[in-house]
Amino acid sequence: MPSRLIRTAALGAAAALAAATVTACGTSAAADRSTSAGPGATTPSAPAGGHAPRTPHWSYEGAEGPEHWATLSEDFATCGKGRAQSPIDLDADLAVETDAPVTVHYGRVTAELVNNGHTVQATVSPGSGSGIVVDGTTYQLRQFHFHLPSEHTEDGEHAAMEMHFVHEDDKGGLAVLGVLMRAGRGHSAFTDLWQHLPAEEGGRSRLTRPLDLTRFLPGDRDQYRYEGSLTTPPCTEGVKWTVLEDQVGVTPRQVAAYRELFPRSNRPVRPRNDREVGHVHR
Ligand SMILES: [Zn+2]
Repeated sequence: MPSRLIRTAALGAAAALAAATVTACGTSAAADRSTSAGPGATTPSAPAGGHAPRTPHWSYEGAEGPEHWATLSEDFATCGKGRAQSPIDLDADLAVETDAPVTVHYGRVTAELVNNGHTVQATVSPGSGSGIVVDGTTYQLRQFHFHLPSEHTEDGEHAAMEMHFVHEDDKGGLAVLGVLMRAGRGHSAFTDLWQHLPAEEGGRSRLTRPLDLTRFLPGDRDQYRYEGSLTTPPCTEGVKWTVLEDQVGVTPRQVAAYRELFPRSNRPVRPRNDREVGHVHR
């Protein structure tokens, strides 16, 4: 019984993630099908007038912006009350050195891109074999998506963008790897992907060639680690966060192209409260 309860709760978190990342006002987008193993993954794609509840609309600005998320729905209460919310500022001086790195095992994956009204999300085909290991537990990669500007800050500074790789373990627990993206000239790993960004809300595009995910990571894997939350409603906590300290390059043109789709898509940093932020030097 207890294990069943735990699983149910964990799947709830996964379902919440699916709901949080796919719903957009006026379009169900049906974007969630392969986002998570949770049964709740069907919720946001229910047709209007169906039995499944719809996630209220939220946005990054105005009356439905981050400071109002908690009031938009009872389901979003954690966005206001939660004490372990994400993102946070990553302060090198406050971080505690630890010797427990999260290890990244990425390879080539196939994926479908969807513009869900909040981000461009790449839903990774199941069985890709790509994942991360956090304190001995393996988490499989489900999807990755983008924010502009970065959600996490380093010593108070935003990066141009941030990429979130969302993983799930076999109990539905979530672990996210954040990669900060620095705008600059020169080589960009994102060129192929950017050619397929769906411009319209609800738009989709299937990548014709597998993506080598290691190209999206900086060479150095020094990292910050902490316990946080989803950065979108319902802001569910219990998410294991790893943010790489080094950044990966993206061109100013690519940043501008993404900004055309989503002018702003970051939740402002939340208080760290009494949480410890670990730093791993690899
Ligand atoms: Zn994200």
